[in-house]
Amino acid sequence: MAVSTDLKEYQNLIGGELRAATGGALTDSIDPSTGKAWARVPKSSKEDAVTAIEAAQKAFPAWKALSAGERAACLRDAAEIIASNGGELAGLETQDNGWVIRETSYGLIPVLQQVWLDAAGKASEANRGQTVPMSPTSLGYTLREPYGVVVGITPWNAPLFTFSIKAAYALAAGNTVVIKPSEQSAVSSLHLANLLKDVFPEGVLNVICGPGSEIGDTLVEHPAVDKVSLTGSGGTATSIARATAGKPKPMILELGGKSANILFEDANIEKAVEAISSYSIFTGNSGQLCVGSSRLLVHRSIIDQVADGIKNYLQNPELKQFGPTMDPATTTGPIANKSQYESIRSYIQLGLDEGAELVYGGRSGGSELIPDRSDLADGYWIEPTLLKTESNTLRVCQEEIFGPVSVMIPFDTEEEAIALANGTEFGLAAGVWTKDLSRAHRMVASLEAGNVWVNTYARVGVDLPFGGVKSSGFGTDSIEDYSREKACVIEL
Ligand code: NAP
Repeated sequence: MAVSTDLKEYQNLIGGELRAATGGALTDSIDPSTGKAWARVPKSSKEDAVTAIEAAQKAFPAWKALSAGERAACLRDAAEIIASNGGELAGLETQDNGWVIRETSYGLIPVLQQVWLDAAGKASEANRGQTVPMSPTSLGYTLREPYGVVVGITPWNAPLFTFSIKAAYALAAGNTVVIKPSEQSAVSSLHLANLLKDVFPEGVLNVICGPGSEIGDTLVEHPAVDKVSLTGSGGTATSIARATAGKPKPMILELGGKSANILFEDANIEKAVEAISSYSIFTGNSGQLCVGSSRLLVHRSIIDQVADGIKNYLQNPELKQFGPTMDPATTTGPIANKSQYESIRSYIQLGLDEGAELVYGGRSGGSELIPDRSDLADGYWIEPTLLKTESNTLRVCQEEIFGPVSVMIPFDTEEEAIALANGTEFGLAAGVWTKDLSRAHRMVASLEAGNVWVNTYARVGVDLPFGGVKSSGFGTDSIEDYSREKACVIEL
């Protein structure tokens, strides 16, 4: 990627210090609403990655030795700093990855604060084991311990959220951490690292930005790294598995999805249409949402009504869909980077070539979608796009597109709906819309997904685990998964 001059430069946090990459190497970060460089981030080397890991390794014994209360106090300070700098963090997230300000400032920041506070509250649970009387003369018990150095690798679609769920729970459990944000959208993570610099003892939290293809192997295979947590694509998970094949490591993998949102004939259609149109895939960060409802399975008797409802919602002239991402009225942002923009456009064309019908959308480009804003002409804008087909085997029904594209597929029976929903390699999430309570419970039990929502969608929170099954991954960014259990027996 090219490098511009006169742009604000961000630095890594390594061993308690803000540091440039070796040799001062930098990469431009692009504002996806304009397609123009707006900041520069470190292009770290393998050597920088090793320095970050060694800093975390050095800091581990003292951090582990702190009481849960002392660790929790640091996490609470982090939550307070995030809340008091919320406006700035939200603005950076929006400018760097295009997620509209109305969602980052009003939705995201309170969630981040909640995550850090929740982790603080759970710090004492992390090390709590069980007592197991084994016989009158022998006592068994377990200890929960941190792993050591955790490397957290985060994606470009939700940098601050994924940074927070990995770092907060890993730190609460007594691990030290190296976070590697995607270099496509690293600014908000680097700024957060800067804000948290003095909250944790040096080396406890490290943040390093560099291309995954160049420093990823070093970060995961280094012998001092005890656990890896990736939120990203299946391809990257495979690369990490290959890199660690000689010495496998415990992992948390939060990967992609092809989630089905299923509407039965007795669904509250108005409510379902509003959920699909406003927060399940088409708006906000423009469908770059791992749980995005990218397949709409609709009972044949209501499919036209649902399609018309979605079209009417998205065509409503009062909906200020596209526009400057920092304008609170704008509901839909651009695609976060150019390669993803091109990938989504080719998937839309592929769907049409495969024979899917275009129900809504399909257009792209700033000059086409926002003709009155020449400053946004080169941004990566894609219109919410609804396709329809009878066949779940099309590539647009099987592969993750990761953008504002959903495919409608009709079904006739409950059994067919289940087979269609489970008929991909993924298993991240599913939605069910029905008034029939028995059917709702049958569906929840039958769907191969880590998360199922009934008469709502994309409801996640700190009180429930979040993870996937099948090719959507395993493990969760939670206090349980950042500590391990050790068994002990004492002969009395
Ligand atoms: P990605 O390409 O897999 O990148 C994710 C992270 O991995 C980035 O930091 C990337 O660095 C790094 N990386 C790339 N190659 C690597 C390698 N060989 N070794 C180690 N790290 C490497 O994913 P993305 O395109 O950023 O994000 C979109 C994907 O994330 C989608 O599949 C989406 O469904 C998934 N996602 C899942 C969840 C969930 O909770 N299940 C949540 C959000 C997103 P660079 O970008 O700097 O190269």
